[in-house]
Amino acid sequence: MTSTTLIVRRYDTAEAVTLEVRGARIASIEPLDDRHQGGELAWIAPGFVDLQVNGYGGQEFSSADLTVENVAAIMRRMAEFGVTRFCPTVTTAGFDVLAHAMKTIAAACDADGQVARRVLAIHLEGPFISPIDGPRGAHPLAHCRPPDWDEFARLNDAAGGRIGLVTLSPEYENAPKFIARAASEKIVVSIGHTAATSDQIRAAVDAGASMSTHLGNGAHRELPRHPNYLWDQLAEDRLTASLIVDGHHLPAEVVKTFWRAKTAERVVLVSDLSGLAGLPPGRYASELCDLEILDDGRLVIAGQRQLLAGASRPIGDGVANLMAFAGADLRAAVDAASIRPARLLDPTPAPMGLEVGAIADLACFRLRSSPAQKTHVPNTFEAQATYCGGEKVFERIAVG
Ligand SMILES: [Zn+2]
Repeated sequence: MTSTTLIVRRYDTAEAVTLEVRGARIASIEPLDDRHQGGELAWIAPGFVDLQVNGYGGQEFSSADLTVENVAAIMRRMAEFGVTRFCPTVTTAGFDVLAHAMKTIAAACDADGQVARRVLAIHLEGPFISPIDGPRGAHPLAHCRPPDWDEFARLNDAAGGRIGLVTLSPEYENAPKFIARAASEKIVVSIGHTAATSDQIRAAVDAGASMSTHLGNGAHRELPRHPNYLWDQLAEDRLTASLIVDGHHLPAEVVKTFWRAKTAERVVLVSDLSGLAGLPPGRYASELCDLEILDDGRLVIAGQRQLLAGASRPIGDGVANLMAFAGADLRAAVDAASIRPARLLDPTPAPMGLEVGAIADLACFRLRSSPAQKTHVPNTFEAQATYCGGEKVFERIAVG
């Protein structure tokens, strides 16, 4: 049985420890004596669990071109960000493209045990979303449609039953019925890309919806001051909100307000990485329009620097930003990117915290304050090493 010893600092107690991994599990955690408790140790935390990854490095999951090799390649890249489990996210398209993506992800899981382990579930975002400009976001209008259980069931069959999360808009008349059916099959239903009224949101939650997808994005540019679907979802304690805290999708004040309103119990971080994330700055053709990656990493519609076309920063940036924007402590911010999203999809998972006997899905990382930053709150995240089931799947090579 392989064994690894790590000298690190716990994210939850800030204690310096020697952590031993034996086989797939954490075998021991021992405090280090004070002499070693300098400022140099990397943090250690449960591996990140990202519920929304659309693709990476030039490949979208929602694509007629997706191959089994692409799925495995994206999985490997996620390890560079401390991500040990994630939801490949398949977005609005025609049935054939969706079915191809489902079949391909399922085949990738069947072909490779690592893919099967690290794909927590498939997230189907759309096609049952609002057709209205603003709420629809960048999803293609031609393919937005009302919820259809038969279509969903065929897609889930193609996926080998792996769809664990579906984002839809409850603005359609048959939405509550669809939501109740999905919830009865233990599929998490998340409200997103919606123009729903207060009554429709309440009906969706009564039927079993339990999440809001990237709350505050995929919304109208202007809304009535109240009521509106943002207040409705913020005030609804039965909904956990996923947030994209990349510094671009939500202003810091909004992140802070959402965090305070929902509380740490009801917030999860997602990256919402676009398939173009990870490519160098430049112009790229997509099926809908030309996109551009700017020097600061923002992904925008080409020539329109203000219109975000997707996300390009990994979930660890969200951890650092949540601390800087909302005053979250490291433990709460990391839990929002790891334990909490894992529990949402699987309420009774095996122990995954930093405890003896837990599966060794681990992220080692550093947080830094950028020189431009006036406060001492760290706002830069850097993954150092990632372990999946005790196996080292990423290590940053020191430069210089
Ligand atoms: Zn979206």
